[in-house]
Amino acid sequence: MGSSSLDTELAVLERDHLQLLLDILGKRGYRVVGPTVRDRAVVYDDLASVTDLPVGWTDEQDGGIYRLKRRNDGALFGYAVGPDSWKKFLHPPVVRLWRDKTGGNGFQLVEEDEGVPRFAFIGVRPCELHAIAIQDKVLLNGKYRDPSYEARRQGLFVLALNCGHAGGTCFCASMNTGPKATFGFDLALTEVLEADRHYFVVEIGTELGAEILREVPHKAASQAEKATAEGIVAKTAGQMGRRMYTTGIKDLLYRNYESPHWSDVAKLCLTCGNCTMVCPTCFCTTVEDVTDLAGEHAERWRKWDSCFTMDFSYIHGGSVRASPMARYRQWMTHKLATWIDQFGTSGCVGCGRCITWCPVAIDITEEVNAIRRSERGS
Ligand code: SF4
Ligand code: SF4
Repeated sequence: MGSSSLDTELAVLERDHLQLLLDILGKRGYRVVGPTVRDRAVVYDDLASVTDLPVGWTDEQDGGIYRLKRRNDGALFGYAVGPDSWKKFLHPPVVRLWRDKTGGNGFQLVEEDEGVPRFAFIGVRPCELHAIAIQDKVLLNGKYRDPSYEARRQGLFVLALNCGHAGGTCFCASMNTGPKATFGFDLALTEVLEADRHYFVVEIGTELGAEILREVPHKAASQAEKATAEGIVAKTAGQMGRRMYTTGIKDLLYRNYESPHWSDVAKLCLTCGNCTMVCPTCFCTTVEDVTDLAGEHAERWRKWDSCFTMDFSYIHGGSVRASPMARYRQWMTHKLATWIDQFGTSGCVGCGRCITWCPVAIDITEEVNAIRRSERGS
């Protein structure tokens, strides 16, 4: 999204006025969704009030580990990403594609005409903006447009959040996807907590963002406030929990298709598919047809699938990727190599979710390192 005609000056929004911004979005007809705490995790769900945000919470993340901890302040966005990503709204896990409405007398197909809401996403992290852009490429701007995704993506309002806290498994700095939002937002905030003041430095990304900000009390940011916001993002960039060396990564993986290392990781991998479910860029689906026992109703549903299931690569006679080794290799090689040939970008934005939510703590950054080491024979 270009910003050349926009006010490029940064603004300041006091914490107490954030509620007003959410109210304005609600009055304009948006379904306002964002981070909230449920089942001891930060998940994305409907927000009625600023108090629904994870106020005063932070997270501790490592391979196979996630826990929330209390902060000693009232930060609203003082944590990294949780198990949810925005794809649950734009590319939902389960969608009915059509149903038969004849009740057993013949067959008349009714395409699903979902009344989808206009979403306002609150607190979208920079890596997640990149993930949405990747799904746009695949589901919106590719050869085959997905009408369900398009309906949900249209009219989306994005309030992005520059990161002031890097999770233990984050590596956006390695992937050039964060910790500062550079595109794809209407407004982008940096949260600032001082001893006696709590405010946001706001960057305007679109005319719509500017229009909404005009309805909320705000002022131009001072040099000191701008410098404080820049300092927060710079500090976060230096706190990444993980690092991935990406130089020559595509050729590295292509060269190592037959590496014995894949068998080592396959001994651990449960092929549970958690990594694909939590990944904000994974988009694969399967289709299921269901009928009732009387044969009067038929429906077709689309559901998230995973390259870790046996059925995913089933063609007549069996699965192409029958072993865990073949499935793990497929997933990681697709993310970091073949995706680049297919879509002109990496399939990984460095959010760290697949590391945190892998039950046996398999770590994509460490797997790249291990393959590099195996080439050197060390
Ligand atoms: S890498 Fe981890 S999360 Fe992914 S399928 Fe294997 S065990 Fe499950
Ligand atoms: S592969 Fe892992 S780190 Fe990369 S975007 Fe997917 S979940 Fe995030």
